Order: sequence, then structure tokens, then C-alpha cells
Amino acid sequence: MNGDLELLLRLQNIDYDLGELERSKEYIPDMMENLRNEVEDSKTKFDTLKSELSSARIEQKDIELTLQQKNDRLKELQGHMMAIKTNKEYDALVSEIDKLKSDIGDLESRGLVLLELIEGNENEIKGLEEKLGSVDKINSEQLTSLQTQIDSVGSKVSTKEKERTELAGQIGKRALSVYERIRKGKGGAAVVAVKKRACGACYKALPPQRIQEIRKGERLITCDSCGRMLIWTEDSNN
Ligand SMILES: [Zn+2]
Repeated sequence: MNGDLELLLRLQNIDYDLGELERSKEYIPDMMENLRNEVEDSKTKFDTLKSELSSARIEQKDIELTLQQKNDRLKELQGHMMAIKTNKEYDALVSEIDKLKSDIGDLESRGLVLLELIEGNENEIKGLEEKLGSVDKINSEQLTSLQTQIDSVGSKVSTKEKERTELAGQIGKRALSVYERIRKGKGGAAVVAVKKRACGACYKALPPQRIQEIRKGERLITCDSCGRMLIWTEDSNN
């Protein structure tokens, strides 16, 4: 019986590997998707910053030009001051000068905001450019490695299944059918080691006589509580 249990433990390891391989068919594509998205998001952010920067520079040029025109006009109007003849002319002139000064103030404020925005964008673009380079490189490498992994899942599964068939052929029919039944019903481990004088799966304490029987390994012993097959291993002494 102990011989069967040891073979079942090996079978269980193969089944665990097969389960992992099955799961990898889902999580590897997910990981790949995330890696691609990370690069894509960085590129989108980079493009957005670039386009914001270019609009800000255009607006900045535009403001410089308008400021030039308004300042020229202001000088011209201030020159007219000396030639004023009536109060009405004076009021009109002052009103136009005030309007110009206010416009110039607004444009200068906007110019400062733009200057700050441009500087901020330039710095962010520089940082992002460096990050994008390394993210692109690292993620491409990971993607290549993940692609290799997923490409080999099929052949790994075939190898493991072949191993499983060979091993299962060496196990007694009754032990094998108990194993399959527990595995289907419980999921996860069907054969568990005794740990700290208890079932290693559900931690239900085992009476001393039961432990003796498990150590002898003369017959198949299952846990009263969870129904899994119990085996004595080197670690069971601890
Ligand atoms: Zn148990």
C-alpha cells in the first residue's frame, strides 16, 4: 500500500503541473496583454504631451506677435497725447490706452502661464522618453519570453500526460480510483502528509493508533474529517 501511496504522490505532482499548465493558457495571454497596454499607455501619454506642447508653443508665438502690435499701438497713442485739443478727444484716447494696457496685462499673464506649462511639459516629455525606451525594451523581452512559454505549453502537456499514463499503470486499481474520486470531489490534493500529528489538509488531529497505522502503511487510511488519503513522510516527524 505504501508503494501505491508514494506513486500516488508522484501522480499528484504531475496532476499539479498539468493544472498549472492549463492555468498558464489563461494567465500568460493576460500578462502579455498587460505588458502591451503598459507600452501603449505610455506612448499615448507621450503623444498627448507632445501635442499639448506644440499647441502651447503656437499660442506663445501668437501672443508675442499680438503683444508687439499692442505695444506699438500704445506708443503711438501715447505720442498723440501732446496733440490733444478737446476733452472729448482726451477721454477717447485715455479710454483706448486703458483698454490696451489691460489687454497687454492679460496677454502677459497668459504668456507666463504658457511658459510654465511649456517648461513642465518639456521636463515630463524628457522623463517619459527615457521611461518609454526602457519600458519598451523590458516589455518586449518579457513578451518574447512569454510567447516562448505559451508556444511550449502544448508539448509540455503531452509530455506530462504521457508520464501520467505510464505512472498510473503502475498503481493499484483501487488506490487509483480512490485518488481520482477524492481529486474530483475535493479538488487539490488527494494524498496528504501527516503534519504535527494531524491531517496536513484539514488539520484534524489524528489519534495515536491511527498514526501508527499510517506509519505502517499496510492499508489505505483516509482522514475522517476531509476524506483525503493520509501518508507518512519524513516531514511527518516534525
Ligand atoms: Zn483531513
